[in-house]
Amino acid sequence: MHEKFLKPYDAKATEEATYKRWEESGFFNPDNLPPIDTAQGKAERSEPFTIIMPPPNANGSLHAGHAVFVAIEDLMIRYQRMRGKKALWLPGADHAGFETQVVYEKKLEKEGRTRMGMDPDALRQEIMDFTLTNKSFMEGQLRQLGASCDWSRERFTLDPEIIETVYGTFKKLHEDGLVYRGARSINWCTKHQTSLSELETESEERIDPLYYMKYGPFILATVRPETKFGDTAVAVNPNDPRYQEWIGKEIEFEGLIGTVKLKVIADEYVDPAFGTGVVKITPAHDPNDFEMAKRHNLEIVEVIDRYGKLNEKCGKYAGMKVEEARKAVAADLLERGLIDHVDEEYKHAVKKCYKCERVLEPRVLPQWFVKMAPLAAPVIEAIERDEVIFYPDHYKKIMLHWLRNIEDWNVSRQIVWGIPIPAWYKDKEVHIGTESPGDGWIKETDTFDTWFSSGQWPFATLGYPDGSDFKQFYPTQVMETAGEIIFFWVARMLMLGTYRTGRLPFSTVYLHGIVTAKDGKKMSKSKGNVISPLELSEKYGTDALRMGLIIGNTPGTTTALYEDKIKAYKLFSNKLWNITRFIFENAETVGHTEDAPLNAADATRLAEFKALAADVTKDIDEYRFYMAGEKLYGYLWHTLADAILEESKPILKEGSAEAKASRLTLLMLILKDSLKLLHPFMPFITEEIWTHIPARSNLLLVEAWPQP
Ligand SMILES: [Zn+2]
Repeated sequence: MHEKFLKPYDAKATEEATYKRWEESGFFNPDNLPPIDTAQGKAERSEPFTIIMPPPNANGSLHAGHAVFVAIEDLMIRYQRMRGKKALWLPGADHAGFETQVVYEKKLEKEGRTRMGMDPDALRQEIMDFTLTNKSFMEGQLRQLGASCDWSRERFTLDPEIIETVYGTFKKLHEDGLVYRGARSINWCTKHQTSLSELETESEERIDPLYYMKYGPFILATVRPETKFGDTAVAVNPNDPRYQEWIGKEIEFEGLIGTVKLKVIADEYVDPAFGTGVVKITPAHDPNDFEMAKRHNLEIVEVIDRYGKLNEKCGKYAGMKVEEARKAVAADLLERGLIDHVDEEYKHAVKKCYKCERVLEPRVLPQWFVKMAPLAAPVIEAIERDEVIFYPDHYKKIMLHWLRNIEDWNVSRQIVWGIPIPAWYKDKEVHIGTESPGDGWIKETDTFDTWFSSGQWPFATLGYPDGSDFKQFYPTQVMETAGEIIFFWVARMLMLGTYRTGRLPFSTVYLHGIVTAKDGKKMSKSKGNVISPLELSEKYGTDALRMGLIIGNTPGTTTALYEDKIKAYKLFSNKLWNITRFIFENAETVGHTEDAPLNAADATRLAEFKALAADVTKDIDEYRFYMAGEKLYGYLWHTLADAILEESKPILKEGSAEAKASRLTLLMLILKDSLKLLHPFMPFITEEIWTHIPARSNLLLVEAWPQP
C-alpha cells in the first residue's frame, strides 16, 4: 500500500477526482448523511448546523476574499459534520444589481456600445445571459476550492421563489406603514444614472473656492454659485441678531438672468458662524436645503438635469456641465460686481460614487423608502441581550451604534438589472403588487437595491414560511462574511429576518478582515497587486492555499496573501505525505497488527496527542481557527515528524516484538486521528491518504471527530 507514497503528493492529479467522490456520495446534502454512533447505538442526526453562504456576485472570477470565506466556512461545516450534526451549507449566487450592471456597462463600453437608449428588456436579457454564464463558472471555482456545500439546495437571487418572498416582505412592510414613496433628496450618479444609498457613497475632503455673493442687501457664501438659479429662499438663524429685521420679508435684486425675488426665512439649521450667517436655499440640489424647504413649504426648482447639466431654466448657462457652469457663473458675477470676495482655500467634503468616483449630484426624485428605526428596535434589544454574538466582539458596539442612528433606506434603483419594485401609482395613490390595479395606473420602473433582496437571504433561501427546510434549518447558526459589509448586509439580514419571521436569522456573526497583498496594501487592479486564489490553488494545491488563508487570520483583521506563504504550506502537505509513507512502510515491513497494547512511553505519547486534539477542538468551538491550525501544524511537523518518527526508527528496527507492535499501533492511531483533525483545514490530501488507511469504513468527510 505504500508505493503510492514513494512519489510526492500531486494535488493537481487528485483534487478533482476527490471532489467528485464527495459530491457523488451525496453527503453534502444533510438529508443523506449517515447515522451517528451514540451511547444507545446508531441514531439519525437530529441537531442541525447551518451556514448560508454569502452568495458571490455572479459577474466575475472568485477573488481572495471569496477564498477566505470558503476556507473558514467549509472548515466549520466539515467540522460540524464530523461532530455528528446535520450540517447544511447552502450555496448561492447573487445577481448583484448595480455591481453587475457596472461590470456589464464596462463590457458594453469596450464593444463601443452603451446601455442608454437600449430596450430595457433586451438589456436585461443580455445581462441575464452574462450572469448565468458567470454563475456556472463561479460554481466550478467553488468546487475547486473544496466547498462542501449542498448544490441541490443552491439558490440564485433572481429565482422566482426568492422574488416571491422579497415581494411578500415589501407588501408586509407597506401594510405595516413602513414603506413610503416620497420625493427626497437623493445621491445621484450622473454617470451611472441611478440613485445610491448612503452606504454606496464615499466622502472626500476638498479645497474649493468659497464665493461671497451679493444677494440684494446680503452677502452670502456658497461653493456652488451655479445652483443659484434654483434658489427659492435665503435663510438665517432665528437667533442671529444681525438679521432680525429681515426675517419674513422678501428681497429683490438683479441677478445674472433677470430679477430675483426671494423670501428670507429663519431656520435653526443655519449656522451663524458659516460665511456671513446668511445662506441661499436650493432645495432641488442640496439635501439640507431640501429638508428646510419641507419645513417652510418652499418651492423646489430643478435646474440641473440627470446628466449633470444645467437645464433650460438657466438662460445662457443651459446645457453647461456643473463644473463649467460654476466657472462661467463666477466669472460673470465678478464682472458685474456681484461677488464681494472669494475664499480660495475653503475645505469641505463632497460625496462621490463608490464605483466611478464622480461627485454625486443631489437631486429630488420620488423614491421608495423603508422606515428602518422600527426594524432596528428589536435587533438592538437582541444584541444587547447577547442573542447574537460577534467575532471579533468589538463589532457589537459598532453595530449597536449604527442601528441606533439608522436612517430610512432608499431601496429604489434606476437600473434594469434587479428585481422590479412591484408597485403602481396614480396621483398620490400607491398600489403594491405585480398586476395593474386598473386603468390610469403607472407601473414603477425602478428596481430594488440589491441588498433589499440579499437582506432576506437566510429565510428566503430556506423556503419561508412553509418549507420543511425553513422549519428544520432556521434560524441558522453562523453568518460568516467580510467585516466591510456588516452594515450593507449583516445588519439588514438581522432586521429583515427578525421583522419577517419573528426570529433572528443567526446567532453568531463571524467577520473576517480584508485580504491584502504581502505589504499589507489592499489588492486592486490599478495597483497590479491582485493575486488569484485559483492560480495559487492550481500551483500549490487547494489545501496549501486554505492553510495559508486560515493560519494567521484572526477575525476582523487583515490577512496577507502571497505566494511564498502558500508555498510553505505546500511543504507542509509534503511533510504529511512523508509522515504517512514512513508509517505505512514500517507497518508493511514489520507486519502491523491493529490495537496492540501500548507500553508506558507510547501511552504518554498518546496522552500528549489526545491533549492536542482536545485543545484543537476547543479552539474550533470558540472560533479560533487560526490557532487550531497553527497547533496542528506545529504538532505534526515538530512533535510527530521531528521527535516521534525519529525516536521510532531504532524501535522499529531493533526493538522487541511488543515494542514494535506498541509503537506501530501508536503511530497508526495518531495518523488516523491527525487526518480527522486536519480534514476541515486540508480536506483533499487528508481524504486521499484516508483511502489508503486499512479497515477504514467511509469517506473521511463523514468520519466521526476524535473523541476528546
Ligand atoms: Zn457612478
